[in-house]
Amino acid sequence: MDTPLEQLPIPLLLWYREHARTLPWRSHPTAYRVWISEIMLQQTRVAAVLDYYRRFLEAAPTVEELAFLPEDQLMKLWQGLGYYSRARNLQKAARQIVEEHGGLFPNTYDAIRALPGIGDYTAGAISSIAFGLPTPAVDGNVLRVAARITGDPGDISTPAMKKKVTAALAQLIPVEAPGDFNQAMMELGATVCLPNGAPLCDRCPAAAFCRAHLEDRTGELPVKAAKKARRVEERTVWLVFHGDKVALRRRPARGLLAGLWEYPNELADGTDWLQHWGLSGSVQRGGTGKHIFSHIEWHMTAQVLEAESDTLPEGWVWADRAALREVYAVPNAFQAFSHLVEERLRS
Ligand code: SF4
Repeated sequence: MDTPLEQLPIPLLLWYREHARTLPWRSHPTAYRVWISEIMLQQTRVAAVLDYYRRFLEAAPTVEELAFLPEDQLMKLWQGLGYYSRARNLQKAARQIVEEHGGLFPNTYDAIRALPGIGDYTAGAISSIAFGLPTPAVDGNVLRVAARITGDPGDISTPAMKKKVTAALAQLIPVEAPGDFNQAMMELGATVCLPNGAPLCDRCPAAAFCRAHLEDRTGELPVKAAKKARRVEERTVWLVFHGDKVALRRRPARGLLAGLWEYPNELADGTDWLQHWGLSGSVQRGGTGKHIFSHIEWHMTAQVLEAESDTLPEGWVWADRAALREVYAVPNAFQAFSHLVEERLRS
């Protein structure tokens, strides 16, 4: 008797051929298009990615064009998607492909996996979808589906469980349709085998042999260790205006939101930052905002400064409305204040 996972490929592929969503990267799936879409889809929902994907492909339709895209334009294209190191790694990898592979996307799993920003999952997805290689692509969605179908109580956040599922899928991935199989697994996880105890088993092609469903354990599976609590940072954000401009400064080249432009902000630790920066003028409260990163939460309180002079600390710039829209990429973390800034610059 086949194991539950071994029974999966045929019903899954039949289901996928009928139910696959039409997505722009699925038509004409070149390695470049699959790569850009997979990187954008990390941590981000499909609906939120569609417009970004279209704009990105217009601005950088080939590996070469991505390799030579100016940094500010790259950041602007990514503005709002978050996890900006993904965009930097895309460009780093594009440069590597130009330098080491003559601009041709490498076509083996190992060479793809060796590119910056590409992990096991993305290398598996590109290899199978663009090059037809029988390599599994295992992310959180696929782990959830596999743990439920097999009834495995292993913790899906551990490398051991990922290794086990990858090895099991490598044995059964159909060599004639590896890309469809991987996409079908992702699609099943995204649209049917939903997280948090809410799978739609009556629509699932695995319902007849899925252990979690048959044993009524979908609420318990998959097992996943609780994440560590995020660190909370209380920050003060200064919205510094002068005339019809607002002050921005560039974040350091490494670390959180590296190299992006921001409204100057610091930990609320009692330091008199305005004096430290040599700024003066009238100050008012400007509301609060909150942003959640993967490991940190920012709780922000804004201060609005009408600066007396247009002298700024070194490395800061004045931006008017057009520059804010077209030139400087200010991350979503500051979205709570964008309305206030736009209103002020309009007046
Ligand atoms: S039957 Fe239910 S729990 Fe099992 S894979 Fe399908 S949706 Fe998930």
